[in-house]
Amino acid sequence: MDAAAHRSSAETIDQFGKYVIPNYRRYPVCLVRGEGSWVWDAEGHRYLDFFPGWGCNILGHCPPRVVAAVREQIGQLIHVPNTWYMEAQGTFAQALSERAFGGQCFFCNSGAEANEAAIKLARVYGHASGRYKFITAEGGFHGRTYAALSATAQPKYHAGFEPLVPGFTYVPYNDLDAVAAALDDQTAAVMVEPIQGEGGVNIPGPDYLPGLRKLCTERGALLILDEVQTGLGRTGKWFAYQNYEIAPDILTCAKALAGGVAAGVMMAAPEIAAVFKPGMHASTFGGNPIACRAGLAAVETIEQDHLLERGRAVGERFRSQFEALRAELPQLVRDIRVQGVMVGLDLTVDASDVVAQCLERRLLVNATHGHVIRLLPALNIGDEQIDEGCAILADVLRQVVV
Ligand SMILES: *Cc1c(COP(=O)(O)O)cnc(C)c1O
Repeated sequence: MDAAAHRSSAETIDQFGKYVIPNYRRYPVCLVRGEGSWVWDAEGHRYLDFFPGWGCNILGHCPPRVVAAVREQIGQLIHVPNTWYMEAQGTFAQALSERAFGGQCFFCNSGAEANEAAIKLARVYGHASGRYKFITAEGGFHGRTYAALSATAQPKYHAGFEPLVPGFTYVPYNDLDAVAAALDDQTAAVMVEPIQGEGGVNIPGPDYLPGLRKLCTERGALLILDEVQTGLGRTGKWFAYQNYEIAPDILTCAKALAGGVAAGVMMAAPEIAAVFKPGMHASTFGGNPIACRAGLAAVETIEQDHLLERGRAVGERFRSQFEALRAELPQLVRDIRVQGVMVGLDLTVDASDVVAQCLERRLLVNATHGHVIRLLPALNIGDEQIDEGCAILADVLRQVVV
């Protein structure tokens, strides 16, 4: 595509200044096109994307099967409400259920909505026995709507928005004793991310999720896993809990769920899902045919191209690149945390400067939790792309003075 077909980034930035609420910090670049792990701006510059779509584009930009499915669907039915049956929604629900503990699906459009649904379902399920409380983990992230925000145990996201939804108790992550102490006979559910994403790519010890499963079962609480970021292949399995021999009662997924098209899902074990009766919860756009066709195409792509295995190999390539970097710059690299295509490089310095330097070198990475470089690369990124980007990152880090 010709760069001249687009107006300049500066013109778009001006327009945002006048008409778009400035609740995001944005880089001064307007992106216009993407293909795999490459993305182009309005000026025609090409960037290597180690963070495509904030983790939503798990197959990279514009994966061909997803593009084809959406193109076909949009000429057949764009939207019909959930007062009708739709083939694509049923088939996508079956595909997910067969890959995750036989759960039944409620579809929505985002991670926060999926978590709202999970919280509401757990409350309704616990209603008769007086269980309404939730235990969530410090450093967790569950979204910006009110219940999801109340579940998010990070004061910086609460400031100014109080009062929050009552009933949430926060405990340290990766600490089973703290959960055991906080559980009581009014606890509806324990809700955590299997790996904390926004909180800095925090991978818990191997006993944490199995321990939570056991505690919840013994004490009569539900286990809700927020797999909004870890779900649909991110950790080298369809869902991160499958790295352990457990299953949750309720699971939420969004970001990568539909190959980059907006979609969210809450899945629940059938006996729990059964308490949601017609009229108790709803989403107008949830489970629409476009999102479901996109999701099915994403599942098909991951399966046919063996991308779960590929994702594990990608993670190991990043790990070995970063191990070499740690050997060279031990004073800069505090920790390397990798599971599949979820990669954290914990630095001893502020990561936002590193992100800005990488952007100048046309490498897109993310900083989270102050000092962690977070990468959520596509499952199908090439080895040469990994090496090229890691070389840029290493070069940038070599310039950092400690
Ligand atoms: C991104 C994220 C959310 C929120 O998803 P939205 O689609 O932005 O509402 C919730 N939980 C986790 C773990 C996330 O990473």
